[in-house]
Amino acid sequence: GVQEVHVQDVPLEMLASQQAPGRAEELRARAQRAVALLGHRTVWNISSTAHGGGVAEMLQTVLAYGRGAGVDTRWLVIEGSPEFFTVTKRIHNLLHGFPGDGGGLGRAELEVYQAVLDADFAAIAERVRPGDLVLLHDPQTAGLVDGIRGLGAIPLWRCHIGRDGHNPSTTRGWHFLHGLVGDAAGFVFSRESYAPDWVPRDRLTVIAPSLDPFSPKNQPLDDADVQAVLRRASLVADGIRGIEPVGPRFVRRDGSVGTVRAHIGLLVDDEPVPEEARVVLQVSRWDRLKDMGGLLAGFAGRLDRLPDDVHLLLVGPDVAGVDDDPEGAEVLEECREFRLELPAAARARIHLAQLPMDDGDENALLVNALQRHATVVVQKSLEEGFGLTVTEPMWKARPVVASAVGGIRDQIVDGESGLLLADPRDADEMVAALTRLLDDPSYAARLGAAARERVRERFLPDRHLVQYGELFDRVAR
Ligand code: UDP
Repeated sequence: GVQEVHVQDVPLEMLASQQAPGRAEELRARAQRAVALLGHRTVWNISSTAHGGGVAEMLQTVLAYGRGAGVDTRWLVIEGSPEFFTVTKRIHNLLHGFPGDGGGLGRAELEVYQAVLDADFAAIAERVRPGDLVLLHDPQTAGLVDGIRGLGAIPLWRCHIGRDGHNPSTTRGWHFLHGLVGDAAGFVFSRESYAPDWVPRDRLTVIAPSLDPFSPKNQPLDDADVQAVLRRASLVADGIRGIEPVGPRFVRRDGSVGTVRAHIGLLVDDEPVPEEARVVLQVSRWDRLKDMGGLLAGFAGRLDRLPDDVHLLLVGPDVAGVDDDPEGAEVLEECREFRLELPAAARARIHLAQLPMDDGDENALLVNALQRHATVVVQKSLEEGFGLTVTEPMWKARPVVASAVGGIRDQIVDGESGLLLADPRDADEMVAALTRLLDDPSYAARLGAAARERVRERFLPDRHLVQYGELFDRVAR
């Protein structure tokens, strides 16, 4: 059934040390206003998964600080069936402009979709009270709008995906959703241009995601910790030192201290990255739109243009632990087969890893260490609503090379806070951007430093929470 995810409160004061000047006061004032406005009302979030992906990551952040601000913010995860997730993945691909699996989106699919949400609704109705605000995330929960309204609560739909401009695929995807979400009291998109024409502009709010600088995903780690984490997880070769008996420690969301288990990075075909290698990293769900395969083929086909010590590391979740993404296992398998067919010398410079999903904090810590270890981080997506996998390495002052698609264009200023790829399918352009950074470490460091400041300015939770406060002001009077 429906699961509630509990997130530990983090006081707003935590953020003050990282905020741009003047922001702390603004945030505190906003928080007081929201608490006064909402009284005993709850702000619910409903999504389709508790881990693996940007929405889950962002909800952890918003809940931690929203609760820290004194707003009763809570999070429910619906239960779906494989058929349900096949339909919702189809919608996801269509909204990004891709036909995906080519299947239909008619009455039969609507029935499969709505039956799952109807079954989940009983548990939701037990919890949500009249006057509560309910943020429904992404197409997976869109079919709950009418039910929430029926409870006397205020349904808001937040869509994290989208693309500029229409094509026949987007039209099909939006057609399906229009009938479901048309009556939402408010709509939130990551970019204004993502909202279809039928969304009334006076009900539209644009809010970009943010990251939590203190979560296991982003908390500071010194070099020694980074190396210890990666060796212990066996993502990087352990050389002569041997695995230490106790893993490196990190701070969990609830304030307790965790350690990293030994040998948990599931390296596909078991080839750890050599200690001395410079790493080009992409971390993504195994989703075709992330183009892990295109990055792999582009890199493998141009090794002669890259310095010998440069290795590619593609990292995603353990596909066995992800239930809302039916494509994952297939995409990983394609990458694996492609790699296995490469000549030995090329194969040795390319690594695929799956990170375990059973412990979200530990998974996050591994991503943190990998992003810090990387010399360059890539996000070669074909479409991207907004990429936290771009924001995260930027916050860690890494130089990022990313496709100039969707929300990534709001995240990186080309040549200032990273490098944008005008054509995500042009592997020559990608390799040229990589060599530019690999050949000029001081340029790379300048881009990285500017990237961190850009995140401080725009993509920390203070800005996000202030915008939520403004939204609540409008819809919860
Ligand atoms: N992520 C992770 N482990 C993985 C792969 C991804 O924790 O093995 C996280 C990643 O660090 C980021 C989120 O999942 O926080 C992906 O968010 P993004 O906005 O980049 O893309 P989405 O998955 O929502 O399309």
